[in-house]
Amino acid sequence: MIVARDIRKRFGVVEVLKGVSLEIAKGDVVAVIGPSGSGQSTFLRCLNHLETIDSGAVAIAGETLVSTDAAGVCRYAPDAELRRICRKMGMVFQQFNLFPHLTVLQNIIEAPITVKGLARDAIIPQAEELLRKVGLLDKCDSYPARLSGGQKQRVAIARALAMEPDIMLFDEPTSALDPELTGEVLRSMRQLADEHMTMLVVTHEMAFAREVSGYAAWCSWTRASALSKRAPAPAEMFSSPAHPRTQAFLEHML
Ligand code: ADP
Ligand code: MG
Repeated sequence: MIVARDIRKRFGVVEVLKGVSLEIAKGDVVAVIGPSGSGQSTFLRCLNHLETIDSGAVAIAGETLVSTDAAGVCRYAPDAELRRICRKMGMVFQQFNLFPHLTVLQNIIEAPITVKGLARDAIIPQAEELLRKVGLLDKCDSYPARLSGGQKQRVAIARALAMEPDIMLFDEPTSALDPELTGEVLRSMRQLADEHMTMLVVTHEMAFAREVSGYAAWCSWTRASALSKRAPAPAEMFSSPAHPRTQAFLEHML
């Protein structure tokens, strides 16, 4: 579902991604763990073209988003194709990014109507079903300001799912939440994993990372080293991290 090869990305003089490679198969749940500032968000943003890469290649569900030729020239797919490919990915951000002036239901139906051109009446039952799934149907007419952080994040998950993505990218979805609100968001994510959604999750929730490990491929992340093509099994990574920096990070986090 995701093939990223040798992704390089610099901001000014700082090279944040120094040749990162990762492959994710259908139904994999992959957790990216690592220290802040190591380029985790940048990597996710490179996958769905919120950032452009300097070199490397990305393919999503078998379609080339960007590639780099032998001469080192990096080429993106034409615009219309880029948009179509990126729509295969839903994204959930640390800061929720809900539209504050729209109700919960309006937040969910906005993109299906404006981007996909679906009729309002057609999308509403589906939106309500998604809200039921994340346990928030009773909040459909509320504005985001009236919701807790955990509720906002569950709306954000439902909103991403309303576009029927094949892949969900999560960028520290619980980092802005109080601990008691984290569980409800993780429950929704676990449910998605149970339904075999392909998921790439940047997280500091070690328990969650280990728990989804039943279906998870795993990767550790360090600034300087590339992810292995096929990441180690989670148990293995937790019990005997291969890289000293992974080891140090886990010792600190667990
Ligand atoms: P992480 O998500 O792992 O905490 P980020 O991907 O957000 O890390 O950032 C990695 C590094 O790149 C940081 O040093 C950050 O300051 C820098 N960075 C991220 N985005 C930009 C940007 N748009 N312009 C300049 N520097 C950036
Ligand atoms: Mg980040």
